[in-house]
Amino acid sequence: MSDIEETLGGLPFYQIRVSHRAKRMQLKVSPLGEVEVVLPKRISQKHVAPFVAEHQTWIEQTQQQMAALYPPEELLPGTLKFEATEQQWQLEYLEGKRARIAEIQGSLKVYSQDDDAARKALQNWLSRRAHEVLIPWLHDVSDELGLTFERAVIRAQKTRWGSCSSSGTISINRALLFMPADTVRYLFAHELCHTREMNHSARYWRLVESYIPDYQRHEQVLNKGMRLVPRWALTV
Ligand SMILES: [Zn+2]
Repeated sequence: MSDIEETLGGLPFYQIRVSHRAKRMQLKVSPLGEVEVVLPKRISQKHVAPFVAEHQTWIEQTQQQMAALYPPEELLPGTLKFEATEQQWQLEYLEGKRARIAEIQGSLKVYSQDDDAARKALQNWLSRRAHEVLIPWLHDVSDELGLTFERAVIRAQKTRWGSCSSSGTISINRALLFMPADTVRYLFAHELCHTREMNHSARYWRLVESYIPDYQRHEQVLNKGMRLVPRWALTV
């Protein structure tokens, strides 16, 4: 998969994601209103702009819906809660020349020169936490299910919870820390099953079901889940 960014006069800004698995072009609008076009590998890029133009009204309506669903909240949180690990912190913002975060008994002290630096420090802290928590957890689920993978990376994505490449690299969205633990486990099983079946065929879903019988419930949680992620955590 590769990402290409481009802007065209008159059209909403959008990003193209080339997919080896997608069968037709798809449009996605993130909670922040960003537009992504999923482009099947076999379809030429020249079809993208007309496709976006054709769906411009839908894009604008969806962006408005997203803006209503995710009202601009304070961009520096007062509290922080990880559903995945049932951890919670109070945040305190302090002056500091060098941005850093100190964790002291259930509170996070964020030292920075300004709000932007504080937010960046929080985002970096979130990524580090995701590394420490989610990657060992993925290894555990991999051992438990007997499904191996090559490599795992943490990413900050707004439209996807995870992905699995044909070379066996599993990408995990750091925002999974905001999802319930059993749903995180499901997402890991979902990606691990792609190491056997690189598609979403009936055979693939039977494999998933053999490990996670209530997988459909978790799919619903994830489909609605981005709205539970605080806004600052969705910004890269
Ligand atoms: Zn999948």
